[in-house]
Amino acid sequence: MIVDFIIIGQGIAGTWLSYYLLKEGKSVAVFDKENNQSASNVASGLINPVTGRRVVTTWMAEELMPFVWKEYSEAGNFFHAKYIQQKNILVFPSAPDLQNAFLERIKEQNNYIQSPGVQKQELHAYFNFPFEVFEISPCYVVDMRKFLDGYRKYLYQQNLLADEEFDESLINFRDDFIQYKNIKAKKIIYANGVQASRSKYWVNLPFVQNKGQALIAEIEGLHTSFTYKFGHLTFISLQQNLWWIGSNNELNFQTTAPTEDFKISTESSLRSILKIPFTIKEHWSSLRPATVERRPFVGVHPLYDQIAILNGMGSKGCSLAPWFAKELAENLVYKKQINPLADVQRFSKMLSSTERNFDK
Ligand SMILES: Cc1cc2nc3c(=O)[nH]c(=O)nc-3n(C[C@H](O)[C@H](O)[C@H](O)COP(=O)(O)OP(=O)(O)OC[C@H]3O[C@@H](n4cnc5c(N)ncnc54)[C@H](O)[C@@H]3O)c2cc1C
Repeated sequence: MIVDFIIIGQGIAGTWLSYYLLKEGKSVAVFDKENNQSASNVASGLINPVTGRRVVTTWMAEELMPFVWKEYSEAGNFFHAKYIQQKNILVFPSAPDLQNAFLERIKEQNNYIQSPGVQKQELHAYFNFPFEVFEISPCYVVDMRKFLDGYRKYLYQQNLLADEEFDESLINFRDDFIQYKNIKAKKIIYANGVQASRSKYWVNLPFVQNKGQALIAEIEGLHTSFTYKFGHLTFISLQQNLWWIGSNNELNFQTTAPTEDFKISTESSLRSILKIPFTIKEHWSSLRPATVERRPFVGVHPLYDQIAILNGMGSKGCSLAPWFAKELAENLVYKKQINPLADVQRFSKMLSSTERNFDK
């Protein structure tokens, strides 16, 4: 079998990359061992243009917001499904300095912050909150599981997906192609999330594994047209009465599994936030493929022209993955330049020394 590209991983990165390469008329073989606890399957799918206690605009928000809306909508049209919805965030600051940060942004006429389009009185029926409420607009929510499952079925039907572990030790380099089992390809692209940090080609990249957990709760009666944010806890509507509630950022952890500590503290926070009953249905956790300088790893290996990467999406995979998948696809097909802040060539020194070490 001969293909243009082998892609390892069908999380949000591998999904978008294969989508754009197929659109360019290229052939792909995707390897993805099904894992319902992958970062992409556990993510809430929120795309939020502001961040942090100082309420700052996120990296590339001006370009990313219209782009993601268009791309997820077009993919939805292609697959006759709706993958993205606008669900603005109602933020409930928990302290005066946070409230002031929002008031400052409104004064500065920040494009994304406004007074809420819903009566405070109405919100008091559901939530306890001591300060003002603010609305971040626009914010989007991607139905990640619907998108990934739908796309997986499509790849299966086209005979483009192998539900198996890709074994890097079986890669054979030839002069003008790369051989993996019975497949000959021009390049292999690592879109395999945190597992790329164990690849001999990428081990020296400054990866950070950032664990996050979430509870899935049943809450009756809460308006599903908004997302609600209380400190680090965000309530995102999954479907009628079912809410994704999370998350946290753990850099030191004993286990990758959900922990009782998170469940207990989150349940306790929910009891103080909510005036209406809730029932916990599930508890999820996963590792975000983050990077030390919070920028993705995109492009061809500086030493191995036949190996490339699309990774390091951190906590922003839903917006960064489609953008950088498109950049990588256009780089592979047309040799277009990748944003230097994301191009993996910025680590060419580190990657070269890795290689020398494992060659010995
Ligand atoms: C709790 C939590 C909440 C989050 N919420 C959001 C959010 O609201 N918005 C947002 O933008 N981001 C969010 N994120 C971050 C987002 O999930 C990640 O940035 C993104 O999913 C990373 O996608 P990926 O495709 O790079 O990796 P992954 O989703 O990890 O996908 C990699 C895939 O590769 C497969 N794979 C790995 N190695 C192999 C191999 N050798 N052979 C075959 N298959 C392999 C894995 O099984 C997996 O399916 C959240 C993350 C967490 C943990």
